[in-house]
Amino acid sequence: MIGLVAVTTAGRTSAARLDAAWPGRTRRYDGPAKQVLPRAWAECDDIVCFLAVGATTRIIAPLLKSKWTDPAVVCVDESARHAVALVGGHAAGANELAARVAGVLGAEPVVTTATDVTGLPGLDTLGWPAEGAIAAVSRALLDKTPTILETDVTWPIPALPVTAGGAAEHRIVITDRIVPANDRTVVLRPPSLVVGVGASRGVSEEEVLGLIAEALVSAGLSAASVTALATVEAKAAEEGIVAAARRRSWPVITHPADRLASVPVPNPSDAVLAAVGTPSVAEAAALASADELVAEKRKSAMATVAIARRRPRGRLALVGLGPGSRDLLTPRAVAELRRSSVVVGLHAYVDQVADLLRPGTRVLASELGQEEARARTAVEQARSGHAVALVGSGDAGVYAMASPALSLAGDDIDVVAVPGITAGLASAALVGAPLGHDHAVISLSDLHTPWEVIERRVRAAAEGDFVVVFYNPRSRGRDWQLGAALEILGRHRAGDTPVAVVRDAYRSGERATVTTLADLDPAAVDMRCVVIVGAASTRTIAGRMVTPRGYGWLLHRLRRVRRSLPGRRHRLRRSLRRPDPDDRKAGQCPA
Ligand code: SAH
Repeated sequence: MIGLVAVTTAGRTSAARLDAAWPGRTRRYDGPAKQVLPRAWAECDDIVCFLAVGATTRIIAPLLKSKWTDPAVVCVDESARHAVALVGGHAAGANELAARVAGVLGAEPVVTTATDVTGLPGLDTLGWPAEGAIAAVSRALLDKTPTILETDVTWPIPALPVTAGGAAEHRIVITDRIVPANDRTVVLRPPSLVVGVGASRGVSEEEVLGLIAEALVSAGLSAASVTALATVEAKAAEEGIVAAARRRSWPVITHPADRLASVPVPNPSDAVLAAVGTPSVAEAAALASADELVAEKRKSAMATVAIARRRPRGRLALVGLGPGSRDLLTPRAVAELRRSSVVVGLHAYVDQVADLLRPGTRVLASELGQEEARARTAVEQARSGHAVALVGSGDAGVYAMASPALSLAGDDIDVVAVPGITAGLASAALVGAPLGHDHAVISLSDLHTPWEVIERRVRAAAEGDFVVVFYNPRSRGRDWQLGAALEILGRHRAGDTPVAVVRDAYRSGERATVTTLADLDPAAVDMRCVVIVGAASTRTIAGRMVTPRGYGWLLHRLRRVRRSLPGRRHRLRRSLRRPDPDDRKAGQCPA
């Protein structure tokens, strides 16, 4: 929940904009800051304060406890020019919140934590508990002093600017095991362990926590890597388990007894089977929520615990970079690029965003073609646990890499997609509003599709009077297809139908022209172009290509009513009174 604290009219206006941008995720605290800010502090994870930094600091000073538990606070000035990450920059995410607030309000984010200022990841940005020499290792990274990364398994984390291999005094160790500490080592605790818990009715919180601590110590594992407790549904409300979980901020995962009964375990028990309907609770619940058992069942008078480890799931982000210019690259795409440690894509696209990648990011760039290999590389990297961004121009799902990649990806990796502004949309915006009504997008490349299929689609679009957006319109080796497609459209459209040719939309050398079906010279078109052919209703108005939304909803309604059964005058009268929202699609509403 994001608390919005506003005391002035301008502040309330800005707060309302955040409210509208993040529906359901904000709570308003209007009123004297001295009263409402402490309330927001107690009730919210994040706070955006429309108040001076000084005033905010004075009010929150007595409330500050720890960067791990305090909310993130961002201050926005009266004219919404700056969004300042005040406290909780890394640990609570105030730096990120400042960027998001700035994005909505058109403000400048102000971040002062050293590692973000220099573009290096803060060791605590992962949100993972970090132990040991955090300051010394952060400093070493900033100073480019050799620092190595040692990790038990590959985790999908952002790139860290570490030295590849070799010996170094400074180390970042990612492990859930207890390891010797020193003043040049940071240990990051990944969210890898699940503790299965069984208990008799009335077990105490202390007994549960005590047994968990014993089990962790004897297995040489860190409590900081425990992500959850797991148990059988029948114990979901067992007070000792619930209280232990609450004390450590662990969620409790519950499984039905029959699910647990199906999990093979090393130490099943008949007594447990008789009591709760599964021969194992602790071991089975731990395994049902993770992948491998790392500590078998251990008992106290009234409790049992076992520990299992989760295998990391790699992450594949399909990131659309937009047509080219930086301000059409979405903030979410930037965040995904900086969230990744491996970037896969064509040289041209990777080069376009090279300056945004974190130092240490591995770039696997390839030449044109080789789509299959590129998709395979991205999926394999994610499958081996990395955070991978597969990038493409426009939208990664439009005539691009997302579909070959997802055809190969299984459910063993997480996939996120960041939509991008396509070449079609970018080109349309440059020439007016040609897509104001139904349109079809057709690629003229017969590399993956036989020409007969393409031709059939062009014919259908021509007969259906769709505006047509042609991708891959013409290359040196494919020089007749565009002419053939235009000829088909010409059988159904007048010679003066507007046609746009846009080359390198929103890239350097951009060229956008509006001509007509009769005048278009296919020789002026190449692979860096999009061609948009208007429908029967498309006009050129003041040099801009415009496809009207419709011919007037009234005409349409009359025609529709006339077509329907006779004797429905009352309906006709009613339908004439207001436009029917269902008709929006047909473009006949004045909406
Ligand atoms: N995924 C991309 C399309 C890739 S297919 C997208 O969503 O836009 C490549 C074709 O897209 C090119 O042959 C060209 O027709 C078109 N294209 C891509 N970028 C373009 C740009 N900036 N200007 C004009 N056409 C472009």
